[in-house]
Amino acid sequence: MTDSKKILGHRDYRICTNCIMDTSDPQISFNEQGECDFCTSFKQNIVPSWHTDERGYQELMKIAKRIKEESKGRKYDCIIGVSGGVDSSYLTYIATKVMGLKPLLFTVDSGWNLNVAVENIEKIVKTLKLDLYTEVVNWQEMKDLQLAFLKAQVPYQDTPQDHVIFAGLYNYAVKKGIKYVLTGGNYSTECVKPPFEWTYINDLALIKDIHKKFGKTSLKTFPTCSMLKNRLYYRGIKGMKVVKPLDYVPYEQETALKTLEEEFGYQRYKNKHYENIFTRWYEGYYLPNKFGYDKRRCYFSSLILTGQMTREEALAKIAENPYDEKQAKEDQEFIAKKLGVSDSEFEAIITGDNKTWRDYRNTAKLLNFFIHLAQKVGIEKRNFR
Ligand SMILES: [Zn+2]
Repeated sequence: MTDSKKILGHRDYRICTNCIMDTSDPQISFNEQGECDFCTSFKQNIVPSWHTDERGYQELMKIAKRIKEESKGRKYDCIIGVSGGVDSSYLTYIATKVMGLKPLLFTVDSGWNLNVAVENIEKIVKTLKLDLYTEVVNWQEMKDLQLAFLKAQVPYQDTPQDHVIFAGLYNYAVKKGIKYVLTGGNYSTECVKPPFEWTYINDLALIKDIHKKFGKTSLKTFPTCSMLKNRLYYRGIKGMKVVKPLDYVPYEQETALKTLEEEFGYQRYKNKHYENIFTRWYEGYYLPNKFGYDKRRCYFSSLILTGQMTREEALAKIAENPYDEKQAKEDQEFIAKKLGVSDSEFEAIITGDNKTWRDYRNTAKLLNFFIHLAQKVGIEKRNFR
């Protein structure tokens, strides 16, 4: 593990007294009680408008009615992006069994999915008799962009995969004229969003610049969608609507997993995003070792704030290694081989000097303006910085 002093510079180590977010987030701030700004923001902005009781259920049913009315006569009334993970699987359950919708399922084959994730999707599709569209990403382009990101030495190694999932889904929905996109985004497990410095934002300018500097092939078929295209063109002009049903119902991980196991024979896996080999290695090894960022902090803190885990349990869990050294080594070898570089080349690529979004062309200022605007009008309630 990297020396925390090295990451934090002169800043003394400090951890929130309520959750487990700490100064590994360079921009964290604390109030007089020692509570961090994620906690204050949760209490001030999310709690007052977050209803998962009867009131939430009634609101959700109203949304369902509107979706059905606006999609009358159509084969599908909405689209759901599925990964085989618990959020999107439970979302599919709620959309069909509770809301009574007819979704088209959409998934991306980025080349990294584990069998267990693919099998989970297949089980859901079969049990609910739904249609599934799989967007297969051109592997040469995916590989080239991922290697470019690794060479760029930035923390955001999930960007190529995240972008392709988000862009692929939105582009496909608009192309097919499906107005409603249902996402598994939720406060229950994600109310503490990974800090800006850990994940940055969907900034196509940064993606293109990194690829231009370090990529070798051109991205001809790789799905892209800028934040402005999504917000202004897709949502503003084409009328696309994004709904997060999991925020209207009680959504507890353990209960959701049990339901999924009973209904579909769903198989669970160790950590929230470990349905994918690259993500497992990136979140469990690369990010904590190279940058000192442990995304489990956000996940566990979300569970603390929503009453699903105690702070003591979270502290004990975060002290454990996210996954064992042997598995990390095996995964790294697998990743190097798949990306077409030798083990030593890969090691050399990932040990360069750390960089951030500031080292590349970006539109952070403009995108921040839009994020703050969304917070002002109440579309984005989470702490975003
Ligand atoms: Zn906190």
